[in-house]
Amino acid sequence: MTIGIHRPTQLVIDQAAIYHNIAAEKARLKPGVELFQVVKANGYGHGITQVARTAEKAGATGFCVAILDEALTLREAGFMQPILVLGITEPQYADVMAAHHISATVGSIDWLKTATNALSADHQLAVHLALDTGMGRIGFQHPAELRAAVQYLDDQAQFNFEGIFTHFAKADAADTAYFEQQIDRWKAFMAVLPKRPKYVHVSNSATSLWHAACNGNMIRYGVAAYGLNPSGTELTAPFTLQPAMSLTTKMVYVKQLPKGYSVSYGATYTAQQDEWVATLPIGYADGYERRLQGFHVLVNGEFCEIIGRICMDQLMIRLPQKYPVGTTVTLVGEDHGQVISLQDIADYCGTIHYEIACGFTQRLKRTYIN
Ligand SMILES: *Cc1c(COP(=O)(O)O)cnc(C)c1O
Repeated sequence: MTIGIHRPTQLVIDQAAIYHNIAAEKARLKPGVELFQVVKANGYGHGITQVARTAEKAGATGFCVAILDEALTLREAGFMQPILVLGITEPQYADVMAAHHISATVGSIDWLKTATNALSADHQLAVHLALDTGMGRIGFQHPAELRAAVQYLDDQAQFNFEGIFTHFAKADAADTAYFEQQIDRWKAFMAVLPKRPKYVHVSNSATSLWHAACNGNMIRYGVAAYGLNPSGTELTAPFTLQPAMSLTTKMVYVKQLPKGYSVSYGATYTAQQDEWVATLPIGYADGYERRLQGFHVLVNGEFCEIIGRICMDQLMIRLPQKYPVGTTVTLVGEDHGQVISLQDIADYCGTIHYEIACGFTQRLKRTYIN
């Protein structure tokens, strides 16, 4: 994928913010509880290796990713820490995982049996057993299945039973009834476990922020590291989350649009009077969603409306006055005391900030500060 380095549009990633968001959570953890930083989906769009580097400085002792390739990216970059792949990897890749000391998530005994055949004799694969306590996504569904899998692992020297975990569907909600139901199911699973593996973990960001008493001995800390509140606006975090991502560009074309003239595909916007209009070099191919037509950006601390349809690579804004080509425009972040957050963008699009952050494409240059 080509990165736009000859274009004044960039995601600016504040590494000090990421450091703060991890160190502040780490300081709240009971002694002996490890923090694994979740860096899936290119570190939620922030850059996988750069985030991992900052996380390690801030006290993360391991990483979680979604797919094997992300784990291999970290190994190629030289990270030696434990890495857990949170999704199901096809068992044919068990040997690749073992060779790189990457831990696999396992949700069925069938997976283990297939992987046994794929593993070469001198390799051992570390596995974390996933328990489905109510997420309904992956994981063993009954304690009896768990018991059988643990027995199987016990009999096979090719596996290291390294961890056990579950994932909550509603840890970010004020109403805790469903969360507690999952805790009850978790306890029923744990009751059949003859002995605990090295890592027992249940917490994503929301669980650790708001239900820290449940944390096992490791947390899978994700979105909060990037300064985003996992609940959106429903719950308040126990410390200030500092957003790490900004998005800025510069005006590449400025003109006066005469009254009655229209803008962009479909001519959906028509000037009601003579208006100053700037064109910005960013579009939906960068992950700046087409649905953001009518939303705003910041110019010199003033909100300016996005007019007409957002194109693949460009969009137009209405200016309160003439500005020179090259004037900085903030699409995400702070400008002269005014702020546009990823939450604001998500609200406008009817989604969550997670989707906006990881939706920014590779074409956007990432610049790292602090
Ligand atoms: C993505 C993910 C996390 C991290 O979740 P956040 O809400 O970003 O903290 C933790 N555990 C699992 C299983 C995940 O898939």
